[in-house]
Amino acid sequence: MSPNDDLKALIRTIPDFPKPGIQFRDITTLLLDPGGFATTVARMAAATRGPVDLIAGIEARGFLFAAALAVPLNAGVLLIRKDGKLPGATIAEDYALEYGQDRIVMHEDALVPGARVLLVDDLIATGGTARAAVRLLRKAGGVVEQAQFLVDLPDLGGADALRAEGLDVDSLIAFPGH
Ligand code: AMP
Repeated sequence: MSPNDDLKALIRTIPDFPKPGIQFRDITTLLLDPGGFATTVARMAAATRGPVDLIAGIEARGFLFAAALAVPLNAGVLLIRKDGKLPGATIAEDYALEYGQDRIVMHEDALVPGARVLLVDDLIATGGTARAAVRLLRKAGGVVEQAQFLVDLPDLGGADALRAEGLDVDSLIAFPGH
């Protein structure tokens, strides 16, 4: 029995999505559960150390957790999006995918240099997306010392890679394997 097994039971696993061999950890079932989502947000808030100025959420599921956490933590919400969606001037960071490359962006004036930023997403796998987000936030002058995820896939090494970049990394739930 692990402390967050109640929440783990609300996450559905869909095999072979979006491609063969991937066990997709589907959090939409947890979102549908009113108590489940509230408990998730409360536990993530409790795991946050020190005051933060901004919660940076990664498109799209990360937005849900970032927005919900920003309320009890009395912080603003900073959106990290796919390229081409934000209307103002942006700064970008590219990162490698298994095949090819992707890009995330944020508004260049979204944070005041020195702002303390908590990075949030639903799930960390290889950590490629989260590492790019940290580089982007730091490029803008943000102080990024913590990241939180509902789910970690520890065998893929993403959380450890973020720790190697000097972050405290927390997750409520871990699934072994891919
Ligand atoms: P990564 O950059 O490899 O850490 O991938 C992280 C992003 O991909 C997150 O935003 C997740 O929502 C999504 N993702 C990666 N692997 C899975 C998985 N097995 N189940 C659900 N979502 C995943």
